Amino acid sequence: MQPIVDCHKSDSSTTRTKIVCTLTPQRADEATLRQLVEAGMDVVRVNFSHMSVGDADPMLEAIARVRAEMNIPLAVLLDTKGPEVRIFGFAEPVELKRGDRIIIHSYIDDDIEESIAPAEKRFHTNLHNVGKLVEKGARVLLMDGYIEGNVIGREPDAIEVEINNDGCLRPRAHLSLPGVDYPLPFLSQKDAEDIRYAVRAGFDYLALSFVRTAEDIFQVKHLIRETDANSSIRIIAKIESKQAIEHLDAIIQYSDGVMVARGDLGVELDLEDVPIMQKRIIEQCYLSGKPVITATQMLESMIHNRVPNRAEVSDVANACYDLTSAVMLSGETAIGDHPNLVVSTMDRIIRRVESSFDYESMLMRHKEKVQTRDLTTIIGYNAVSTAYQCKASALVVFSKSGYSARMISKLRPHLPILAFTPDEKVYHQLSLNWGVFPRTVPDMIDFEQMVTYALDVAEDEGLVKRGDLVVIVAGLPLGKRGTTNMIRVESVGKNRLPGRVLHGGEVTSSIVHVETDADLEHKGIAGCIVVLGHFEKSFTTSLRYASGIISPNDEFAGDLEVLGMAYSIPVIVGVRNADTLLPEGVTVRIDSENELVIEV
Ligand code: PGA
Ligand code: MN
Repeated sequence: MQPIVDCHKSDSSTTRTKIVCTLTPQRADEATLRQLVEAGMDVVRVNFSHMSVGDADPMLEAIARVRAEMNIPLAVLLDTKGPEVRIFGFAEPVELKRGDRIIIHSYIDDDIEESIAPAEKRFHTNLHNVGKLVEKGARVLLMDGYIEGNVIGREPDAIEVEINNDGCLRPRAHLSLPGVDYPLPFLSQKDAEDIRYAVRAGFDYLALSFVRTAEDIFQVKHLIRETDANSSIRIIAKIESKQAIEHLDAIIQYSDGVMVARGDLGVELDLEDVPIMQKRIIEQCYLSGKPVITATQMLESMIHNRVPNRAEVSDVANACYDLTSAVMLSGETAIGDHPNLVVSTMDRIIRRVESSFDYESMLMRHKEKVQTRDLTTIIGYNAVSTAYQCKASALVVFSKSGYSARMISKLRPHLPILAFTPDEKVYHQLSLNWGVFPRTVPDMIDFEQMVTYALDVAEDEGLVKRGDLVVIVAGLPLGKRGTTNMIRVESVGKNRLPGRVLHGGEVTSSIVHVETDADLEHKGIAGCIVVLGHFEKSFTTSLRYASGIISPNDEFAGDLEVLGMAYSIPVIVGVRNADTLLPEGVTVRIDSENELVIEV
């Protein structure tokens, strides 16, 4: 791999690989959110395994204020509890010793939570007919694998398990029977309520725990539509079971993104399979242009320590090399001792990888595989190639639904992807996508105004400098979905002001401002382009010596049209702010065909 110099966006606010932080209501006040954003957070994840409807309201309010005050895109993701298998029936932790025998009964009723004395070592699970699901000798994992055992006896609705190692079993711990298809409905009542809440409360993403098949996703889509037919919440399928791996293609196809949920995956599969699955899932998402989050234990030791261990640093870096769209922090930010430090450490590791990775060669190696026949992808690929060839500094995408921005993100270009959207939700959602810098753009402005606006924003933010080239991708007509059909190369720093041409013609000359008769007398206007602050009929005779006329408004359009025709002078009116934006002496071109005044 050849190192390349990171000449772009080194000082900009976000990494290309995005950072998802899990936060709890206790940890989501404005000040904390602000610090985490400054440290590098792009997405807030709220874990509804431990929360219920309404609990997130104060967080959402704080997030809304931080978004507005900091003027930043920040996505919010609700992570469902999902069809988890748990062991319960006891309220206090239970000490288990190697050789202990415990009985796990199938669920009886809702009220058994604290009904059993833990000393009896008889527990319950929400799996029906648990004894019919496993053979004698089968492995049983409790609490994410911290305690292991084997089935030594079974009846239809109970299993006896011999424990293989000492451990303290927490109430409501996870129970896992590796390889078993758990006969649980995908949507519990709680999950359905939480999903409806996510839709109504305006979450940007919904992460579905323990998705098993595409059917599970259809069921959720149906529920979302039922709740709000216009909802644009996006679905992230968490891959954390053997069944999900078996149905991976369809799950990726029907979701809006995927999470490599290594925590549960490491319990449901053999641990050593997890890195292989991580690479496979990321590659498949990369090729289908779906965002993919790599999750769990990325900087686990930083829950208490101030410095990560070396394996963790490599883990974060390797996920970036795998081309993950985002990396996730769980306990590290939710309950850890140094949330800001964890995020800034992750940010540093990512930046270092990104500054040394040769994204251009990588794209060349994958170019056959990443290209599909849909027009957006073709245009996207060519926009990125054009940008590399002309050494552009940024890609600008106008994207209403976010689709074109995501299709460019798919190609993992080295250049920042400045995605301009008029849709507030898309703006926040795009903060999960690799390499995308979401920005808003006012709706209802025309294409030329949008170009001017976008370049101004990019320049103001220091993402591009005067004289840089920028490759613009858009779909015309604007605002129609799925019409990406245009690539344009633009240079930064020149005024491009749209107006309305009354009399055509091409002319390039320097600007003179005229307000009064005296201006006409004393300023030499012959051969110049006049910016008319005001107009009187008496101006007509002198104005014929001008080579072009620009008016900031429409007020004198009738007279100026006649004047333009009579003397064959190009006239363009309604050029807003021409008087301030075009100082006397600058050279401009009136481009009648595109109805523009361009500073040259
Ligand atoms: P969780 O999902 O943190 O909600 O369990 C992630 C994982 O299993 O890795
Ligand atoms: Mn999980």
